[in-house]
Amino acid sequence: MPSADDAFASLTQLGLLHDLSGFVPKVLDLLPIGLQIDNLDHQTLYVNRSFTALFGYGLKDIEYNDLWFDLVYPDPVYRAFVKARWLENVQAATEQDTSIDGYERLVRCKSGVDKVVEFYIRRVGDFFVYLYIDVSPRHAMAAELRRLAHTDELTGLPNRRFFFEMGAELFAARRRPLSLLTFDIDHFKSVNDGRGHAAGDQVLVEVAARCRAVLEDGQTLARLGGEEFGVLLPGCGAGQAQAVAERIRLAVAEQPIALPPEPVQVTVSVGGACDATEAGDLGSLLLRADHALYAAKRGGRNKTRFTTR
Ligand code: GH3
Ligand code: MG
Ligand code: MG
Repeated sequence: MPSADDAFASLTQLGLLHDLSGFVPKVLDLLPIGLQIDNLDHQTLYVNRSFTALFGYGLKDIEYNDLWFDLVYPDPVYRAFVKARWLENVQAATEQDTSIDGYERLVRCKSGVDKVVEFYIRRVGDFFVYLYIDVSPRHAMAAELRRLAHTDELTGLPNRRFFFEMGAELFAARRRPLSLLTFDIDHFKSVNDGRGHAAGDQVLVEVAARCRAVLEDGQTLARLGGEEFGVLLPGCGAGQAQAVAERIRLAVAEQPIALPPEPVQVTVSVGGACDATEAGDLGSLLLRADHALYAAKRGGRNKTRFTTR
C-alpha cells in the first residue's frame, strides 16, 4: 500500500493539490460513505455530503457532541451504553493511534427512520475522523433470507426446518411438559384428483389458516411437508394438548371450504404425544405422535388420538 507521503507526492505531481480548498471538499463529497471530522474537544468541524444523506443532519445540527447523542440515540439507556463505549473507543483510537473498526449502532435519523450504521474512528493528528457506512440494507436482506429459509411458500406457515429448530431449542431449554401434534388431511389425494392440484393448494392454505387461528402465542404450527402439519405445544401437558388437537380437528371439519363452483368438505386426523419427564428427544416424541396419527387414520379418520405412556 502506498504511504501517505507517496500519495501526497503523486497528487502534487498531478497538480491536484495546488488548489486544496477547491479540490479536497469536492472529493470528500464524492465518497459513498459518511465522513465527520472533530477536533480533540469533540467539536464537529466538518461533515461530508454522504454524512448528511445518511443521517439527515448537517454540521449546524450536531456541532456539539451532546446534541448529537441526544438526537440519534433517543432511548436514554441505549444512549448511555453507546456513550460509554464511544469514550472507550476514542481513548483507544488516541492511545494506540489505530483505527477502531466497524462496530454497529442503531441510530435515529432526522427523518425519524432508524438505521443500522457501521462506525469507524481514527485519530489523525489533532483530529478525530469518523467514517459511517449504512448497513441497514444488508441487515434487512439477512433478515429476509432467514425468514424465507424458515417459511413455507404456499401457506406462509413456518416450515419443516423451523419446526425442527424450534423443537430442538425447546428440548435444549428443558421446557416441560412439552407436547407435539402431527396431523394430516384425510383423503387429500381425492381433492387433487377431483378438483385439481390448484384447488388442493387452496385447501392447504385454508386448513393452515383455520388451524393457526385456534392456537395461542408460543404454540408453533408448521407445514412439515405435503399435507402434513406439526404443532409444538410448550408448557402443555397431555390433557391440554388433547384439547388443542380436538380444536384443530373441529376447526377443519365444522365447515366446508368455499371453493367455487362448490365447497369441499375436508377433515384431518390428529396424533399427539407428550414429553413430561425430560427422558426423550424430539425424534422419539415425533415418532410417538406419528404412531398416534396412524391410529387416528385406522380408527376411521377425522379423529384425534394421543399416545400416553
Ligand atoms: P390419507 O387419508 O391416508 O392421508 O389419504 P391421502 O389421500 O391424504 O394420502 P396420500 O399420502 O396418499 O396423498 C397425499 C397427497 O397430497 C398426494 C400429493 O399429491 C398431495 N400433495 C402433497 N403436497 C401437495 C401440495 O403442495 N399441493 C397439492 N395440491 N397436493 C399436494
Ligand atoms: Mg393425507
Ligand atoms: Mg400424508
